[in-house]
Amino acid sequence: MTARSAPRTDVPAIQVQGLHKYFGDNEVLKGIDFHVNSGEVVCVIGPSGSGKSTLLRCVNRLEEPTEGQILVEGIDICDPEVDLDDVRSRIGMVFQQFNLFPHLDVLKNLTLAQRTVRGRSKDEAVQIARQNLEKVGLSEKEAAYPAHLSGGQQQRVAIARALSMDPDMMLFDEPTSALDPELVGDVLDVMKALASEGMTMMVVTHEMGFAREVGNKLVFMDGGVVVEEGVPSEVLSSPQHERTQAFLSKVL
Ligand code: ADP
Ligand code: MG
Repeated sequence: MTARSAPRTDVPAIQVQGLHKYFGDNEVLKGIDFHVNSGEVVCVIGPSGSGKSTLLRCVNRLEEPTEGQILVEGIDICDPEVDLDDVRSRIGMVFQQFNLFPHLDVLKNLTLAQRTVRGRSKDEAVQIARQNLEKVGLSEKEAAYPAHLSGGQQQRVAIARALSMDPDMMLFDEPTSALDPELVGDVLDVMKALASEGMTMMVVTHEMGFAREVGNKLVFMDGGVVVEEGVPSEVLSSPQHERTQAFLSKVL
C-alpha cells in the first residue's frame, strides 16, 4: 500500500460524465458533467438539497453512482477492477463536522491512517504529521484532544490529517459552515495557502469571497443539475441564469 504512482497531470484530476444518483425513487443528481483540472480550485455553490454533497461523495465513492462515469486522474473509479484504496488515498476529504477521532490526541489523529493505510513507520508518520501541523499553525496542539480545541482548530487539524496522506487533490464539503464567524478566517487562510501551492481542490462553500479570490471556476448547482459555471467573478457579478440570480440575491 505504500508505493503509489505519481499523479497524472495530462488528464483532468476529476472528470464526471452523465452522473445520475438516486436514493430510492429520489433522483438527486440528474446528469452532471463536471471536471476539475490538475492544480485548479473549483468552488461549488447552490441551495441546500441541490446535491452538492452527494456529488462530492460520489467522487471517492462514498456514494455509489447510479449511472454515469467518474474518472479520477483518468481512472474509472466504478470499474470493478479498480484499486479503490489507492484511488481514495489520492483524495483528501474535509467535512463540515471535522470528523476527528475524539478518543485520540491530535498527533494520533494525524498518524493513524498514515500507519494503517500508507504503511509508514511511527517515526516517519510523526515527522510528516508535525510538518502538516506546522502548516496549519497548530504545532503546539499535538497533545491536545479534539474536545479541547475550538471548531476552527479542529478543522485545521482535519486538514492537516488529510494532507498527511499526501493526497493529489482535496475535496472540501462546507468546511467553514459549522464554525463561529470569527474562526472562519483561519481555516480559509489555510485553504488559500494550499491553493497557492498548487493543490487541486473541489470546494463546496458558501464563502463567496473565497470563491471569487481563490477559485478558478465557480459551479452553481440547483435541483441536481449544474445550472451555470464560469469564472467566479463573472458568475457572481453577472449570473446568466434566473436560478443563479435568485440564489445569489439571497446570499450576497
Ligand atoms: P446539498 O449538499 O446540496 O445540501 P445533498 O447532496 O446533501 O445536498 O442532498 C441532496 C438530496 O439527496 C437531498 O434531498 C437529500 O435529502 C438527499 N439525500 C442525501 N443523502 C441521502 C441518503 N443517504 N439517503 C437518502 N437521501 C439522501
Ligand atoms: Mg451538503
